[in-house]
Amino acid sequence: MQEQELGQQLCPKSPRNILFDKYEMGRLLGLGTFAKVYHGRNLITNESVAIKVINKDHIKNEGLMEQIQREICIMHLVRHPHIVELKEVMATKTKIFFVMEHVTGGELFNKVFEGKLKEDVARKYFQQLVSAIEFCHSRGVSHRDLKPENLLLDKNGDLKVSDFRLSALPEHHWSDGMLHTQCGTPAYVAPEILRKKGYDGAKADIWSCGVVLFVFLAGYLPFLDENVMRTYTKVFKAEYEFPPWISGEARLLIKKVLVVDPEKRISFQEIMRDPWFQKGSNFPRPIGVPNSIENDQNKKDDRIGNLGRSRSGSITTSTTKYSSSSPPFFNAFELISSMSSGFDLSNMFEDKRKSGSMFTSKCSASAIMAKLRVVAERLNFRVVSEKEFKVKLQGKKEGRKGKLAVSAELFQVATEVEVVKFSKLAGDTLEYTKFCEEDVRPALKDIVWTWQGEENECELNKVENLNCY
Ligand code: ATP
Repeated sequence: MQEQELGQQLCPKSPRNILFDKYEMGRLLGLGTFAKVYHGRNLITNESVAIKVINKDHIKNEGLMEQIQREICIMHLVRHPHIVELKEVMATKTKIFFVMEHVTGGELFNKVFEGKLKEDVARKYFQQLVSAIEFCHSRGVSHRDLKPENLLLDKNGDLKVSDFRLSALPEHHWSDGMLHTQCGTPAYVAPEILRKKGYDGAKADIWSCGVVLFVFLAGYLPFLDENVMRTYTKVFKAEYEFPPWISGEARLLIKKVLVVDPEKRISFQEIMRDPWFQKGSNFPRPIGVPNSIENDQNKKDDRIGNLGRSRSGSITTSTTKYSSSSPPFFNAFELISSMSSGFDLSNMFEDKRKSGSMFTSKCSASAIMAKLRVVAERLNFRVVSEKEFKVKLQGKKEGRKGKLAVSAELFQVATEVEVVKFSKLAGDTLEYTKFCEEDVRPALKDIVWTWQGEENECELNKVENLNCY
């Protein structure tokens, strides 16, 4: 579709390509298999962004909705200096828009295509890649499609990992604790993935990082052959040859990474201690995973704006704190997304298992907060922390994965209409689902207007009139 046509579809009345009154759409930046990426400008902040436009028809045809939902969830989980930042997700009935940080330096692939990289340049990119992917793994995310085409460069020449469409979360592991979906790009894929017996996504990512490092230093692929079967045969045996210019120290590291048996393959922690890796002063320190619920959640709220949700309810990196005396506003798009069974994008933002964890209420914010405190006590939960429109609760009993901890947050959607959203902070997901369905629902029934997913024509009509175009 031509850019002009797209713009007209976005905002028929406007001569400019304006998206949701907030972004001006510009030139085409790149084409993916299922998406077009355009330059955009935030009309309020003037910030330059990249807007990935996915046509929902393609998703229906290709059965890609799950991958897109996953990509959104994962990009929220993995905010890191060397990972492309997802700022906001918006949608119309026909299209989904990912508003991302605009990365201006192009794909690292183009640089590598021109020829091998100098060893210190390769090291810098590899350090940044390891830092980003090690962080993903600490969050339970494996990327599963690492290759120079998915590594972008920013204006400072720093690496940014992109394209999390094939990534996996812990819930995608089978009962054997392994992943079983075959994915990736033949030349970069780990042998255990090809063996179809289940694999550890993190170990497979480490293999792909090893192939990427080889490509950086050699300027060509280690396992490429004239057809895919011969390529796979080489991958199965880790059969490759170093060009003469690769240093001894770099070879030693690559040899430890490209090990066929994933159990014997080097870990990221060991890679980070490797002498070749440690050279140079640019190595980005790994970002740790928080431990305690109370501290962590507070820190997380500050650092990434409560997993990327701004007070306005849209997804953003805003670090704005509560300041007004009324609850944060939940925008109409998000409410339609979450509450409508006809146009349900709620799964894109949240784990599917959280269904039924959001309700609307016509009670006042203070009455809802008071009710939550009383119900917490009755359900044997203690209040861990309380802000104006958010309360964090922790069960007193040990569960399968420790004590269950949840938060309940209020958003205003219209005068006298509040949305209350429960999220799991810690503990077992099944116990959380049971808690929502069997304990919270009956306990709150006198303040609930409607639960998420329960159709309510009046409510939807009301919401549609709020502010979406
Ligand atoms: P794939 O088919 O590889 O899964 P996709 O459909 O998910 O791709 P992307 O790979 O994410 O689409 O994007 C397509 C192209 O758009 C990229 O190759 C890149 O050139 C450009 N691009 C993507 N994200 C950005 C960004 N944040 N800033 C600048 N350019 C970008």
